[in-house]
Parts: sequence; C-alpha cells; structure tokens
Amino acid sequence: MRLLLIGAPGAGKGTQATRIAEHFGVAHISSGDLLRHHVARGTSIGRRAKDYMDRGDLVPDALVMDMLRKPVIKATKAGGYVLDGFPRTVEQAQAAYRVAKGLGASVQVAVLLEVDSATLVARLVARGEEAGRSDDTQEVIEHRIAVYEERTQPLIDYYRQRERLVTVNGDRPVDEVTWSVIVQLERVRRLLTD
Ligand code: AMP
Repeated sequence: MRLLLIGAPGAGKGTQATRIAEHFGVAHISSGDLLRHHVARGTSIGRRAKDYMDRGDLVPDALVMDMLRKPVIKATKAGGYVLDGFPRTVEQAQAAYRVAKGLGASVQVAVLLEVDSATLVARLVARGEEAGRSDDTQEVIEHRIAVYEERTQPLIDYYRQRERLVTVNGDRPVDEVTWSVIVQLERVRRLLTD
C-alpha cells in the first residue's frame, strides 16, 4: 500500500501517519522529520534547507526530491509507504510521479486531513512550547499555514482527479480520526487487490 497524507501544519499528519504505517506494516516517511535530522547533523542538505525551514518557507524541490528518492524506493520494495509532508506542491507531485511511475513506486491513494484553521494555530503554538521547534512561533506558524493554503491546497484537486482521495475530519479526537482513516483505507486496499 502506497499512500500520502495531505493536511495543514498542525492537522495531525505525523501522528496519523505513524499509526497508519503501523497498521499496514509499511514505512512512515516524513519529509519534515528527515529534513530536521539533516539540519541536526549539519549535512549539506541540512545546511541548504535550514533557513527556508526557519522562515516557514518550502525547501527547494530538488533538495527534497534527492533526499526522498532512496527511502521511497526502499519502502516500495518492502511493501509500501505512508508519505507525510511530501508532496507539498503540484509541481512536486508531478515530478515525483515522473520518477516513481517507471519504478512501480507511485502513490495509490491520498488522504486529506481536514482541520479548521483556528484549531491549527492553537495546536501548533502548544506544540512549539512543548517541543521547542524553531518554526512553531506564532508568526512562522501563520506563514506556514498561508504557504499551505497557497501551494499545497491545489494538490487536493490534483489527487481528486487522478487517484483515490480519502477525506477525513481531523477535528475529532485522535483515536477517532485514526479509526476513520483506517476503515476507509481498508476499503481502498480491497479495491486495489481485486
Ligand atoms: P513539516 O514537519 O512537514 O511541517 O515540515 C517542516 C518544514 O520542512 C516545512 O515548513 C518546510 O520548510 C520543510 N518541508 C517539509 N517537507 C517539504 C516538502 N515536501 N517540500 C518543501 N519543503 C518541505
């Protein structure tokens, strides 16, 4: 099963991606987590990505694509993946599709986590206080949400027209959200194997 999650910052993508990956026994690949590891280790990817991340801007496509190529191919061979945070733009989705289709690694289903924007800001401010993330300050959060609305939301229509799109209301308690995603994905999985 190869799927991806779309959701604004603070929609709960990371939490849900971990649980979905565990349920289906596939790899959870988070572009944001991988980038933060590169920054922490001071790699060349990390050094080139840091300023964009601190401002809440998107890191250039080529950096993200290079970073993800190996983990996505490896996960595909091992049974699939849950991508969390990638693609972030229609251009990334198109570029990823061009690379992945020949490898049998392209995405089969997209999951949209819908959360009201007031809830997002409150969750992110709380998370910044807990985790000390340098991009979870009020100003950067608002910018990241604006970037999501402008650059990432068009992906919803892109996937609605191409692949299967599963939509869930992410405003509910996390266990209910997980349950609802998994029930819908199980249905899709049966269709894919039929
Ligand atoms: P996230 O943890 O998904 O919220 O990502 C944190 C930050 O990493 C974002 O604000 C971007 O600066 C960067 N980032 C993560 N994924 C991508 C991506 N697919 N394309 C560009 N930048 C990304």
